[in-house]
Amino acid sequence: MAGRGERFDVIVVGAGPAGLSAAYLLAKEHLKVVVIERGDFAGAKNVMGGVLYRQPTADIFPDFWKEAPLERHILETQAWVLTENAAFKAAHRHTAFDREPYNAFTVFRARFDKWMAAKVRAAGALIVPETVVESAIMDGDRVIGVQTGRPDGDLYADVVIAADGANSLLAQNVGLRKEIRPDEAALAVKEVIALPREVINDRFNLTGDQGATIELYADSTAGMMGTAWIYTNRDSLSVGVGVMISDLVERGLQPNDLLEHLKAHPMVAPLLEGGETREYLAHLLPEGGLRAMPRLYTHGMLVAGDAAMLINSLHREGSNLAMTSGRFAAEAVLHARERGDFSAETLAHYGRLLRRSYVFRDLHKYRNLARFFETHPEFFTLYPDLLNEAAREMLTVDGVPKRRKQRKIFWSALRRRMPWRMALDFFKAWRSIA
Ligand SMILES: Cc1cc2nc3c(=O)[nH]c(=O)nc-3n(C[C@H](O)[C@H](O)[C@H](O)COP(=O)(O)OP(=O)(O)OC[C@H]3O[C@@H](n4cnc5c(N)ncnc54)[C@H](O)[C@@H]3O)c2cc1C
Repeated sequence: MAGRGERFDVIVVGAGPAGLSAAYLLAKEHLKVVVIERGDFAGAKNVMGGVLYRQPTADIFPDFWKEAPLERHILETQAWVLTENAAFKAAHRHTAFDREPYNAFTVFRARFDKWMAAKVRAAGALIVPETVVESAIMDGDRVIGVQTGRPDGDLYADVVIAADGANSLLAQNVGLRKEIRPDEAALAVKEVIALPREVINDRFNLTGDQGATIELYADSTAGMMGTAWIYTNRDSLSVGVGVMISDLVERGLQPNDLLEHLKAHPMVAPLLEGGETREYLAHLLPEGGLRAMPRLYTHGMLVAGDAAMLINSLHREGSNLAMTSGRFAAEAVLHARERGDFSAETLAHYGRLLRRSYVFRDLHKYRNLARFFETHPEFFTLYPDLLNEAAREMLTVDGVPKRRKQRKIFWSALRRRMPWRMALDFFKAWRSIA
């Protein structure tokens, strides 16, 4: 039963990577598409570390790197395991990452999402900013539209795509998921710190538009499950930290305390020295993984991106899962349209596409990881300590024979954890990512 509001083929709620990807592909197929966004413009409210991956983005916007507002292409990826006064570092560079079509880029979402939105508009979709979708309009158990906060703002469509981010009110409203739990969500804060381009290039050993990323573990999150990061932009650094809300509550800490602690760390402070904070942002990350994933479709509605909890936190991937799910949502809508049937049974095609892709396969691979780290905090405390202590011992040239040093490391580790417990911890860690 159609209402009296304006009618579209598809309503997309949320102008982030998931929603804009779906809207773009559907508008290109000449469907009448509207995107509703609560921010002043697409990207206005969006936060990302932010590394954007080339291939999943190019699946939707081919050759985008030739015209989109990007910061730097990522040449080097580093991981640091921090203790109070030390860092154990691993780094990888490859010349293949230094030439077109590149592998990944740093971006500012406020600029990149705005660029995507312009593409979506050019393809023929209508984007309505500064408008909040308050609830779904139902006809029995079928979603037939959305109610917005505007007067006479009811909109109707064959299908609604909920791409409204981590807290998806729409998916909750329809009963596809519950409110996100503190142990399923990380709270992340990020600062953009301005520094001259040449200073960044010197400090990170880069030239031109080359970029580097550093993920920092252990002391960077005060031993809580989570990560911190430093990413290079053209003339600024994005520095942030994210930890599970349940841990923050338990420890009585604010994420900003962690960020200040990180910025003052002796290995981090020299990278930021002389920088000026230009922006401060905070956002939720749905990190419940496959186990917390909601139902992804119902009659007349699909859920994509963060709204569907599609985040691979170990690999710092979210934007790509959002875009790929937006692409599959568009494919599922076209599939349903061909059949003239937008029931859950037909929209199940979306679930099939996701299950066959890297999105589900990766989330399935890491489905036990969050639980594992929750129950093994020693991977953020004890083991980083032991690793850095062992490195210090072996690298200190003090006339002590190396075999004696190895024995010292062994007995020091043994005092803190029995070898069989360590072996079991690492076996279980391997099992949870194998
Ligand atoms: C601090 C941080 C760092 C991250 N770093 C990375 C990274 O480096 N690389 C990476 O790939 N991923 C990263 N992610 C994850 C990535 O940002 C998300 O996975 C991605 O943005 C999800 O896209 P989305 O379109 O599903 O949701 P979002 O980008 O959250 O977009 C949702 C949109 O819906 C709008 N909206 C919400 N509710 C309503 C409503 N009721 N009515 C109308 N509009 C509404 C919002 O304003 C928003 O524009 C990071 C996330 C955070 C928080």
